[in-house]
Amino acid sequence: MQGLHLKSVHKSYGESVALDCVDLSVGQGEFVSIVGPSGCGKSTLLRVVAGLEEHDAGEVWINGRQVDHLSPKNRDIAMVFQTYALYPHMTAFRNIATPEIMRRLSPFERLPLVGWLSRRRDRAMSEISQRVHATASLLGIETLLARKPGQMSGGQRQRVALGRAIIREPSVFLMDEPLSNLDAALRVSMCAELMDLHKRLSVTCLYVTHDQAEAMKLSSRMAVMFDGTIYQIDAPEAVYHSPSHVRVAQFVGAPAINLIPAAVKDENTVTAFGSDLPITAALKPFTRLTLGVRPEALRLAGEGAAGLAGVVTAVESLGSETIVRARLRRPDAPIVISRLPPYHTPRPRRDEAVTLQPEACRCLVFDEGGRRVDAVANTSAVAVNA
Ligand code: ADP
Repeated sequence: MQGLHLKSVHKSYGESVALDCVDLSVGQGEFVSIVGPSGCGKSTLLRVVAGLEEHDAGEVWINGRQVDHLSPKNRDIAMVFQTYALYPHMTAFRNIATPEIMRRLSPFERLPLVGWLSRRRDRAMSEISQRVHATASLLGIETLLARKPGQMSGGQRQRVALGRAIIREPSVFLMDEPLSNLDAALRVSMCAELMDLHKRLSVTCLYVTHDQAEAMKLSSRMAVMFDGTIYQIDAPEAVYHSPSHVRVAQFVGAPAINLIPAAVKDENTVTAFGSDLPITAALKPFTRLTLGVRPEALRLAGEGAAGLAGVVTAVESLGSETIVRARLRRPDAPIVISRLPPYHTPRPRRDEAVTLQPEACRCLVFDEGGRRVDAVANTSAVAVNA
C-alpha cells in the first residue's frame, strides 16, 4: 500500500490523551494538511509518524512497510520544522548537503584529514555537490549557498530547510507549521512556492498548521482535529460547505460561520428568534438545533422585511467585500456577520435597523450534540416573521 497510513494510533501523556485512536491515510503524492486549535494533537501526530515520539498503540505504515519500530532515519521521511532547525555555524550548502553526507559517508570518511584521503569520499562528495546545486536551483537559492543562516532572511532560511529535506528524495515529507515564523506577505508567496514544489516533486506530504486558510490553499484534503480526534477529513471545499460537526464549521472560514440557536417548528419550518425559515431538518418537531450560516449566505435587507431583525454595529469596507456586523434584536441573540459584495446598495450604516436573511438553501443544521443533520430548503416557501 503506497503512501502513508495510520491505523488506530493512540498516544497519551499520563492522563492526557494526545491522539485518540487516529486513522489517517495519505495517498501517494497527495498533500494532506492537519489543522486544529493549539493542543489538539497535530504535532504529536507528525512526531509519531517521524518516529520522534513513541505511540502507545496502533500502526504506522509508509509505502507498504510498517515503520513503528524503525528509527527516524530509517523511515524514509524528511521533516521541516517551524524553527527551520538549521545548523547556525554551517553554510547553506553544508546545511543542505548534511543529510546526504550522513547517509552516504561512513564515520571514517567524515573525519577531517583522515577521511579526506578516501577516493570513494571524493566521488560521493562530488555527486552530493551536484545534488545540492540542483536542489538550490529548484528552490532559487543558488546565490545563497555560501551564506550562513544568520546572514539570511526568514524566507531564505526556510528555503534552505526545504532544500535539506528535499535532497534526500524522501517517500514522505512532514512539515510542522513551516511558514508560521514568516511575515504575512512572505507566507502567501511561500505558500504558492510550496504548492508549485509539491506539483513538481509529486511527493506525499503531511502538513501541520493551525492556519485553516493556509491549509485550504495548499491541500488536496484537510483533516480537522480536536482533542486528539480527527473530526473530518475531506477536500477543503467539502469541509467548508459540508462540515460534519459544528466545531469543524466554526474552525474553518474567516469571518467565522454564524451560529444561530433555532428549533424545528414543523415538517417544513425551522424557527430562529421569531423568524420562520423554510427548511426541512431531519429532526423531530420542537427539537432544538443550531443553524450554521456562512457570512456570505446571510443577506441584508431593510428594516421590516421578513427575516431576523437587527441593528448594525460595525461596517468594515475591505475593498473586495464589505463585512457587516449586526446585533439581533432579541435577548441573548448573538452578533451576526454578513459578507457583502463591494458595491452592495444601499450601503449599510452603523446603528441602522436592518433585517438579516439567511439563505435557506445554504443553511447548515447541527443537532444539540453538534453533529450535522440533513436539511433541505423548501424553495417554494419564503422566510416569514412568525
Ligand atoms: P498541537 O500540535 O495541536 O498544538 P500537541 O500535539 O503539541 O498539540 O499536544 C497535544 C496534547 O498533548 C496537548 O494537550 C499537550 O499539552 C500534550 N503534550 C504534548 N507533548 C507533551 C509532552 N511531551 N508531555 C506531556 N504532554 C504533552
